[in-house]
This record gives sequence, structure tokens and C-alpha cells, in this order.
Amino acid sequence: TYILGIESSCDDTSAAVICDGVVLSNVIANQEVHAQYGGVVPELASRAHQQNIVPVVQQAIEKAGITKEDLSAISFTKGPGLMGSLLVGTSFAKSLALGLNIPLIDVNHMQAHVLAHFIKEEDAKMPPFPFICLTISGGHTQIVKMNGYFDIEILGETIDDAVGEAFDKSAKILGLPYPGGPLIDKYAQLGNPKAYSFTKPKVGDLEFSFSGLKTGILYFIQRNVKEDPNFIKDNLYDICASIQHTIIEILMDKLKNAVKQTGIQHIAIAGGVSANSEIRKRLGLAEKHWGWNTYIPKFQYTTDNAAMIAITGYLKYLEGSFSEISTKAEARLKVTE
Ligand code: ATP
Ligand code: FE
Repeated sequence: TYILGIESSCDDTSAAVICDGVVLSNVIANQEVHAQYGGVVPELASRAHQQNIVPVVQQAIEKAGITKEDLSAISFTKGPGLMGSLLVGTSFAKSLALGLNIPLIDVNHMQAHVLAHFIKEEDAKMPPFPFICLTISGGHTQIVKMNGYFDIEILGETIDDAVGEAFDKSAKILGLPYPGGPLIDKYAQLGNPKAYSFTKPKVGDLEFSFSGLKTGILYFIQRNVKEDPNFIKDNLYDICASIQHTIIEILMDKLKNAVKQTGIQHIAIAGGVSANSEIRKRLGLAEKHWGWNTYIPKFQYTTDNAAMIAITGYLKYLEGSFSEISTKAEARLKVTE
């Protein structure tokens, strides 16, 4: 069974082909236009998707070594995301499914981040149900209990900013280009994580909050730059290491609470921030010292990609869960919908 996946929820246009759960191709066109604006500009994202979608899908099919007539179904991101971006993938997927006369499968982007764990690979370690997943991305931060592929409970989530946003906004304060998360990670590896300390938020055991931390970091930088204009330049590595350490401590605290509350020790992470080297290291240690079984996605399946959409499409295909051609993009789709 060949399933095509199409992802266009934010600023990456991606297409992938999966054969019985194995990735044959996963093509991603990143949009560079946004870097100069310090964030994603929705209108530009939508236009870039329109330019990219045909060649990206074509490449994914070619790289998979098949023709579009071999496809069994078309899966695409229905939401959540930017409406203008989602519409490009949705309309394209619909017309392709109609043209080929094969089933259309809509996919929830946040479910797909989690279900990327079920991509079949030689050394893949798939989590058994029930497991806990910490989904940490550019727009979401949530702890979910996965009772089955599509049986999901939200145990807790952020009451304000997402953790990816906390990384990106901190980077912006430091004058780093968008998206700053990967850069903070890179510089943090050269610095002292205990150089500076920031206050952790006081919220519920399984809740997150990052807006106070962001303000704390902003004031800290402003105060120090006033005294020493070279403060950021001279201490960049230590600042990045300390910010990252604070954020990862918050995430680990919440995971510990989730394990305590549920008694489940199968712990997965998903989403763009799960690419972060410190959270990956910390989970490795948790496995060694606390007996958790941890599931860390391959680097290429952390940030937005269509392979995760295609694997989710495949799992829905097996269940016979298809969409009407009238299905609509939904900017605010919840992970449980
Ligand atoms: P959502 O999935 O919630 O709709 P999104 O699709 O925009 O949001 P992702 O693509 O999953 O988000 O993740 C992007 C985020 O991951 C960005 O905020 C980026 O800075 C962050 N990120 C990527 N790599 C790293 C890293 N190594 N360390 C920290 N953050 C990272
Ligand atoms: Fe995402």
C-alpha cells in the first residue's frame, strides 16, 4: 500500500510516500523568506506553498520510485495551522484524490507529530499503549496519554506560549535569526548551563507557562546590556545554555509529575523541540537512572515533515477511516478531534 502524505500547515511544504509504514521519500522545501522578518509571515507562507507544492509532490513520488497511479490514498494536514497554508495542501490533496479516484484521508497535524513514532524502520523502537507523549513544538506544548493511535487524552498543556515559541522569542531577544531554537541549542553546547538562573513558572502539576519566563529573560538582558553593551556578545554561550537548561528542567519536572500521576513509564517526545540535544540527553539519563522506557523520534521526524502525515494516513487507511471530499481545513483543530 502506497500512501502519499502532504504537509503544509506552517512554513514548510513537504510530501512523502510511505509503503506499508516504511518511508520511501520525505521531501521538504523550507521557506527562507521568513528569516528576515523574524517570524513566519502567513501571506508569504501561503504563496510559497503554492509555488512549491507541485514540484515537492512530484519529487516525493519520483524518489519513491513509483508513479502516481500506484498510490492507494492521499493524506494531508487538515489542521491545526495557518489557514492560508492549510488551504493549499487541502485543495491540492482533494484534486489529486479526485483525479486519481482514490481515497482522501485528513490528518491532524498534532496527532501526526506523535504518530511519527510508528514509522517502520530497522532500529525503530515503538512505544506500547498506553504511553505518555510530551509534544513540544512551535505552536503547542502538551502532555498526552495515548491509549491507542487515535484514542488520546490531554493530561496538561500550556496556558500561554508554546515551548518552541519560548526558544524562538529568547533567541530574538538575543538578536539571533528565526527560528532561533536550533541556534540556542548549538550555542548552549559551548556554555555553562548554571551561569545564570531564571525563575520557573508556578502553575499546575501538568500545566506549562512560558510567557513569564520570556519576560524574565527580556528584563535580565536589558538590565545587563545597560551596564555592559557587549554583555550578549561576550556571554552568548552561557546565556543560551542557561535559558535552555531552565526550559528543559521545566519539561522534565512535568514529565516526572506525569509518571507519578499515571504510573506509566513509557515516555515519548514529539514535535520540533524534541530535536533539542539536551532533552534527548536528559531522557537517555531518565531511562538509565529511573527505569523509564523512552522513545525519541529520529531527528528528521521531529520538525514538520510529511512522513508523519503519511504514517498517520496509513494507520487511518488500515482502519478504513477516510474523508469526504467536502472536508475542510481547520486552523484550530484540537489533538483529540
Ligand atoms: P505546531 O506543530 O505546534 O503547529 P510547528 O509545526 O511550527 O508548530 P514544529 O515544526 O514542530 O512546529 O517545531 C518548530 C519549533 O521547534 C520551532 O520553534 C523551533 O525553534 C523548534 N526547534 C527546532 N529544533 C530545535 C532545537 N534543537 N532546540 C530547540 N528548539 C528547536
Ligand atoms: Fe508541527
